[in-house]
Amino acid sequence: MRVPGRWRRDLQCVLISEDQIARRVRSLAREIERELSMLPGGELVVVSLLNGTVLFLADLIRHLQRPMRLDFMGVSSYRQGTAPGKLEFSRGLKLDVRGRDVLLVDDILDTGRTLHRVIRHLRQFKPRTIRTCVLLDKPARRVKDLKADHAGFVIPDVFVVGYGMDYAERYRNLPFVGVLHPRMIASVPDGKRKIGPVESREGRR
Ligand code: 5GP
Ligand code: MG
Repeated sequence: MRVPGRWRRDLQCVLISEDQIARRVRSLAREIERELSMLPGGELVVVSLLNGTVLFLADLIRHLQRPMRLDFMGVSSYRQGTAPGKLEFSRGLKLDVRGRDVLLVDDILDTGRTLHRVIRHLRQFKPRTIRTCVLLDKPARRVKDLKADHAGFVIPDVFVVGYGMDYAERYRNLPFVGVLHPRMIASVPDGKRKIGPVESREGRR
């Protein structure tokens, strides 16, 4: 699939199109509904991890019929560039989830550290159940033994942006998921990544 002209310099390719996302989000919602219908009634609490889930969440929950409350947690592991950093909670839960069924929503399951940490954190509030739903699953880099209950797409080990997901807070508004061009990611000698783009003049890369 061709990258729209405006983004051709920044992206290597479109990995998942807007249409593919829309179809899959609808079927994910059906899967989730089906699973929830097995549980005895009760109000669902959707807990979404900021900021990468904004578009996914907005699309997903409008296809969920069950009454719900919505809460957000701020967690970030990508402090700079594309390398995982230390996990930080920047916003805690506001709702009481005791005895509730929680649907934890994240954009990408990568190493698994984020979800692992958040699930551990949520358990202390004694929800009845915690289910996880991610748009993208990148199994290649998993270090925690963790599987999402619901995953939209399994993708290879590439750095993606768009549909809510960012690189240095950019690209969240793209309606599709694209692979960031390596030239946008500047490597620094200690192996950590630094916010790019690198200078794009030929010969400087
Ligand atoms: P994990 O803790 O599973 O390694 O990482 C999960 C978090 O890292 C995701 O919530 C997401 O914010 C971020 N992340 C992982 N891979 C990517 C990627 O390819 N692109 C972007 N934009 N974020 C990613
Ligand atoms: Mg995230």
